[in-house]
Amino acid sequence: MPRKYYCDFCNCSFPDNATNRQKHNNGTVHKSNRQIHYDWFKDPDEFIQEQINKPPCRRYLTQGYCDYQLQCRYSHITYDPTGRLIYPPELLNWLQERQQADEAAAAEVLAATATSNKKDEKPKYRLPRGWKIRELPPSLKPPPSSQPYSYTHSGFWG
Ligand SMILES: [Zn+2]
Ligand SMILES: [Zn+2]
Repeated sequence: MPRKYYCDFCNCSFPDNATNRQKHNNGTVHKSNRQIHYDWFKDPDEFIQEQINKPPCRRYLTQGYCDYQLQCRYSHITYDPTGRLIYPPELLNWLQERQQADEAAAAEVLAATATSNKKDEKPKYRLPRGWKIRELPPSLKPPPSSQPYSYTHSGFWG
């Protein structure tokens, strides 16, 4: 079976050879998908600034729509009579999706922290086999569970 090349940006695969790969990587669809991918990780303010810095898109200004959307070489950001910025719908959508993704990521981190905190609640000492806590001299007994004790400064024997 011939090896397949999988493109993460385009979510597609094709028989792997130099010609196919070059053709794919130079294609407009791939370049656009790649751009969308990298733009996604930009800081929203930086991304908006990049859009503002592009020269105005004639097509967008005259027709009110441009197929290239955020990948257009020109800017789709316009100004109202008072000079305020008007973002095109695709930029508003992008900002909204980004915010939702950020919130989801933050929630995931919170959940992960909660899980790792739970793990820390387990006692960190383990007695050798056959040893019983009640037979230990007082100095070797683990701290009573009724009193909170921080194990962060405790040492361990190998
Ligand atoms: Zn691709
Ligand atoms: Zn355009």
